[in-house]
Amino acid sequence: MSENIIEVKGLTKKYGDFTAVNSINFNIKRGEILTLLGPNGAGKTTTIKMITGLLKISSGKIFLNGKDTTDTPDEIKKISGYMSQKFSLYPLLTPLENVEFFAGISGLKSKEIKEKKSELKKIVPENLLKIKVESLPPGVKQKIALFSALLSKPDILFLDEPTSGVDPEVRRDFWFEIYELKATGKTILVSTHNLDEVEFSDRVIILHRGEIILSGEPEKLLKEYNTNSFEGIFKEVIAENEKA
Ligand code: ATP
Repeated sequence: MSENIIEVKGLTKKYGDFTAVNSINFNIKRGEILTLLGPNGAGKTTTIKMITGLLKISSGKIFLNGKDTTDTPDEIKKISGYMSQKFSLYPLLTPLENVEFFAGISGLKSKEIKEKKSELKKIVPENLLKIKVESLPPGVKQKIALFSALLSKPDILFLDEPTSGVDPEVRRDFWFEIYELKATGKTILVSTHNLDEVEFSDRVIILHRGEIILSGEPEKLLKEYNTNSFEGIFKEVIAENEKA
């Protein structure tokens, strides 16, 4: 089996004359935590949605385990879990109803759905289980969204800004869970605009204006730029790209 679970070549998304993602090339290695870092509007969501088949690509190619799946996006969908802090849960349903719904569309049998609902009761306080998701604190929503993304037992998890809007302590707990998932063999792509999350990743790709402007292993990049924080690197590469 190839080292890369997913490979994208020349991936592009255009909206009319505007290019949201401009011919990017990268791969996702089996078992790694890969972070897509970029400011608002950089193209992170668009990239994730194209790979997961939620958005039609304008041009380029997507490979799964070395096989061209550009015209068969369901092949990646089948092995993926998708979570977005903003959109992945139904706000007007309760946590239990959300899990029931996502378990149903993931093809779980009624016995398994019952088991999953019991598991949820262990991670969400009882008094919050029957209120609408829209009224829950962000950290609880995040837990339920991740739980739902895992219902289909995906090989690869796409987490689109999963830590936006949650406080630092909740973010730390969330990253702890990500590590545990990696330890079970899952591959994880996570997008963020939080610079302090880069150090948790195996590799980082910085996106800006729809283009990859830097990528590599966090420790190596820090050495290369002779610094101990990502802030300086980030500012430098963005400023350079803005001049170009
Ligand atoms: P954010 O954190 O703000 O979601 P992002 O890096 O995920 O940022 P995208 O949501 O991928 O960025 O958006 C990339 C660019 O594409 C932005 O300039 C955005 O305004 C634009 N864009 C996204 N969806 C559409 C659309 N349906 N029509 C036109 N432009 C769009």
